[in-house]
Amino acid sequence: MGEKREDSASVTRRTFVGAAGASLLAGGAAIAQAVPEVPNRAVGRPRPRDLPAEPLPDDRRLGFAVVGLGKLALSEIVDAFGVTRRARLAALVSGDRDKARRVGARYGVPEDALYGYEDFDRIAGDPRIDAVYIVLPNGLHREFAERAFRAGKHVLCEKPLATNVADCEAMIAAARTAGRKLMTAYRCQFEPHNLTAMRMLRRGELGEIKVVSADIGRAADPTDPSDQWRLDRELAGSGSLFDIGIYALNGARFLLNEEPVEVRAQLFAKPGDARFAEVEDVVAWQMRFPSGVLFNGSTSYSYAFSNSIQVIGTGGIMTFDPAIEYHAQRLRIRAGGQDRVIQWSPIDQFAREIDHFCASISDGIPVVADGEEGLQDVRLMLAILEAGRTGRAVATDWGYRRSADPATTVPDGQGVA
Ligand code: NDP
Repeated sequence: MGEKREDSASVTRRTFVGAAGASLLAGGAAIAQAVPEVPNRAVGRPRPRDLPAEPLPDDRRLGFAVVGLGKLALSEIVDAFGVTRRARLAALVSGDRDKARRVGARYGVPEDALYGYEDFDRIAGDPRIDAVYIVLPNGLHREFAERAFRAGKHVLCEKPLATNVADCEAMIAAARTAGRKLMTAYRCQFEPHNLTAMRMLRRGELGEIKVVSADIGRAADPTDPSDQWRLDRELAGSGSLFDIGIYALNGARFLLNEEPVEVRAQLFAKPGDARFAEVEDVVAWQMRFPSGVLFNGSTSYSYAFSNSIQVIGTGGIMTFDPAIEYHAQRLRIRAGGQDRVIQWSPIDQFAREIDHFCASISDGIPVVADGEEGLQDVRLMLAILEAGRTGRAVATDWGYRRSADPATTVPDGQGVA
């Protein structure tokens, strides 16, 4: 289990000791344990001390094919398989055979487990693959999810689930037809700061919540291939809202554990900025929740990197800043006359998310962030864009309720069942 550090003048330091008997991190020092020698496992970053149990033996772990070897896959996901305890990296799918070979050689994926997009359907006959992890541009998620389900595999799909409602619904239907699981890769729902905040809010520790605000954006670089598809409406869906604004939306929803009933928005792109020929730049939006909580947020592909979420209640304030980092979230809580900073030791959110998906497949526990959860965000983002285009409020009370609340489904600080 992860460790949590609280800095406060008025609160004694507390240690959150888990199954592994973790101790307080001195000064936030990074964990630097040696990677244990485990045969046939991907070599990843050092194993965090927070994972409570030893990895399952290889033959009991589920095999994953990672589809699309871009920035996220190569910087985070293939390494995450080095610290998962229920999953193993079994195959790679790429349009670039040489890259796949290089990555395969580094992570121990054999040549006969390297697939291209054309021969992807051959995974149906590969018993080493139980599930695929789709890390492709958003507009390709549906095609590869449907092909994976037809091949009889489970699908973990990066956010946003797809670029439109019809594609999300088709993916959900394909999962049902195939009798396989679909999960949207919302890593923050397995992240200890977020889990801590969710539980505090469920217990009413900030009193009655009044306002949530969030600003999440960055400057898109049109010379970066990884950003080029993000500025293409067909591949991206929309601009920063579908890419990183989605964290503000999804975060507000899971922190509050309720769904917005109305959205309003304004859109802006500076005339002449070629980046925004097809997608929005700034989206500033409001949401009203049934409890009366108001959300106010923005996202942009042209402002400085911004990454914060704040919740204000009658009894206190909680601030995530940064809110969506891969390894270094920070949560400040000012409530009850105390001012605390909670900082868990670095953990691998992707490994937790993958292990949770494995648990849902193998043990039948409910999937946190299932396909419906991904659909809800896509539906809401499209409503926000509609509100921005029309200047009118858009009603969003479609009756959706999440099937599994991470606050009660994901073990504290673990994310693995
Ligand atoms: P990249 O552009 O870096 O990688 C995408 C990869 O997809 C490419 O490298 C390429 O891999 C493959 N690909 C196949 N067809 C195309 C195409 N037509 N255009 C471009 N690439 C193609 O993107 P990211 O890795 O940053 O993002 C991938 C997905 O992950 C997105 O859905 C994004 O929203 C999500 N994401 C999630 C994050 C999170 O924290 N959960 C963070 C970042 C991204 P190859 O060369 O192997 O064929």
